[in-house]
Amino acid sequence: ALARAGRSRPYRLGVMGGTFDPIHHGHLVAASEVAAKFGLDEVVFVPTGVPWQKRDRDVSMAEDRYLMTVIATASNPRFSVSRVDIDRPGDTYTVDTLRDLRAERGENTELFFITGADALRQILTWRGAEELFDLAHFVGVTRPGVPLTENDLSHLPEGSVDLLEVPALAISSTDCRDRVRAQQPIWYLVPDGIVQYIAKRGLYPAIDSKVPHDR
Ligand code: ATP
Ligand code: MG
Repeated sequence: ALARAGRSRPYRLGVMGGTFDPIHHGHLVAASEVAAKFGLDEVVFVPTGVPWQKRDRDVSMAEDRYLMTVIATASNPRFSVSRVDIDRPGDTYTVDTLRDLRAERGENTELFFITGADALRQILTWRGAEELFDLAHFVGVTRPGVPLTENDLSHLPEGSVDLLEVPALAISSTDCRDRVRAQQPIWYLVPDGIVQYIAKRGLYPAIDSKVPHDR
């Protein structure tokens, strides 16, 4: 076994938060690209509890979103899944996610919070925004249709956020749900196991056309 140096370099932990309803290849590519670029030892996917920004629509049960995340990440030895957000009662706030992971993983861990361009733009509306940048380094990844420039970051603390262009994958969970409801394919937008899990559990059933779409 490798001898551990008395003072090893900090463990570099990526944190990918999301509703993952369902998880798709956009999430997985973003995590993989950031892991490679920033030399991360691990990326932990953290499905949210009650997404407070998404109260206007029905979100799938936490357990289904958790299991889909496990299925999608199982084949990658550097990917893992955490229950901290779904097991914490009440709304999910990223500041709590980062505090919990820090407490769980110990002081010798550097956190890299991975977020899509759309989520990064809302960052200052998040509770505890001031503390967020002390807890983690932020990596914003490009997302088709969401322009993001250094200028958008000018109000954020210097050096606290990096931008990374990832190969454009115009995939969203919203589109995947709409496709399932319309009985259109989601093959290759999500991992095969997710196609099968959604079918098996009957997630995203067709809805009456009078019910407004949940964009
Ligand atoms: P929804 O359409 O329900 O909002 P989503 O596709 O945006 O779903 P989320 O679970 O909301 O997925 O996203 C989790 C994180 O992944 C967010 O930071 C989001 O910006 C990022 N993300 C989602 N899809 C992509 C993509 N195609 N490319 C890059 N980042 C993405
Ligand atoms: Mg989203």
